[in-house]
Amino acid sequence: MPARPSSSPSVNSDELRRRKRILKKLNAAYPQVGCTLDHFNPFQLLIATILSAQCTDKRVNEVTPGLFKRFKTPDDFLRAGIPEIEDAIRSTGFYHNKAKNIYALCKRLKEDFHSEVPCTIDELVNLPGVGRKTANVVLGNAFGIVEGIVVDTHVGRISRKLGLTEATDPEKVERDLVSFVPKKEWVDFSHRLITHGRQICRARRPLCGQCPLASDCPSAEK
Ligand code: SF4
Repeated sequence: MPARPSSSPSVNSDELRRRKRILKKLNAAYPQVGCTLDHFNPFQLLIATILSAQCTDKRVNEVTPGLFKRFKTPDDFLRAGIPEIEDAIRSTGFYHNKAKNIYALCKRLKEDFHSEVPCTIDELVNLPGVGRKTANVVLGNAFGIVEGIVVDTHVGRISRKLGLTEATDPEKVERDLVSFVPKKEWVDFSHRLITHGRQICRARRPLCGQCPLASDCPSAEK
């Protein structure tokens, strides 16, 4: 199901201007953004996104070249079995669960989708181990289909700091964001906040003194 509009009360014109300024400054600060998980097709991106849970993209990118050389199709993962998948992805953490999900995912892809990754959000979110965030990552970055805004921990945390949402539930955060971010910017907006979270608005010690959004941020540390 595509992202629904926000259930939050509508914002006044000053607040709308502030939000537009934030978008403009983010675009200026991070003009070139993109998916930081290395991949060559939707299947690889789907697997890489599952591996990225509780793990850095950098670590995932260290693991996936070898992984995808060994396992090119859902059948390759199925033939190997869960213990072998676990061995191959161990360093990404939570490997028992991830391997179980990857195996179940490959089985569903083989049985129901001719071993291809489906390209609708409703089909994607029904695959084992695939939530709305993963589905949006795959749709936006592998298929160029924009259905919503990816809300990971950086996007949720920084959106709250910036006063763009009060919600903690990712789906509610997404609804608040899609109410004012133009649809053509949904994919890049998410990449920009993630980059901002890595470089400036870090969870432990945000670098507010270097932040281009500070004058519009209610959480800016003086
Ligand atoms: S001013 Fe500080 S808290 Fe606000 S977005 Fe920038 S780094 Fe984060």
